[in-house]
Amino acid sequence: MQALQGAAIPKLIGMYTTKDGKKTVLMMSYAGKASSSLSELGPCDKLALFHRLVCLHKVGVQHNDLDPRNVSTQSSSGPTIIDFDQASLDHNCPGVLCTELQQFAQALNLDPAAQIKTLSEETAIRWNLYVIVAAFISAVVPTLFRLLRRLRNI
Ligand SMILES: [Zn+2]
Repeated sequence: MQALQGAAIPKLIGMYTTKDGKKTVLMMSYAGKASSSLSELGPCDKLALFHRLVCLHKVGVQHNDLDPRNVSTQSSSGPTIIDFDQASLDHNCPGVLCTELQQFAQALNLDPAAQIKTLSEETAIRWNLYVIVAAFISAVVPTLFRLLRRLRNI
């Protein structure tokens, strides 16, 4: 969740509990003014918002109260999802079959299957790059050490 703070969701400043433990206050960074309608978002902000929701789902968070009033559109980092008092933290997202993702994509006039597929492909490409880099390093580094040992012996 820390990686999503300040972009997809407001940054957590602190959590404070009264001495008697009866009240807890969660302080979050200011994320701007709540939206009155998702139609005021441009196409890039709609995509960014949906991708941020997918990221939240991937870490197990389901918002359960997605509504324009729970989206801030005035943050400098783009649209931010706010108000998590209805959220569940144990969401095992089925991806394209996820009801919340489907409904929010419809609200944004996006094709959820296409967006989730695009994100999955981006993740797959990223992982393939990591594998290629790791394979390259594991092949080159031992060769470099052997070469350095030979140079020392000369
Ligand atoms: Zn989901």
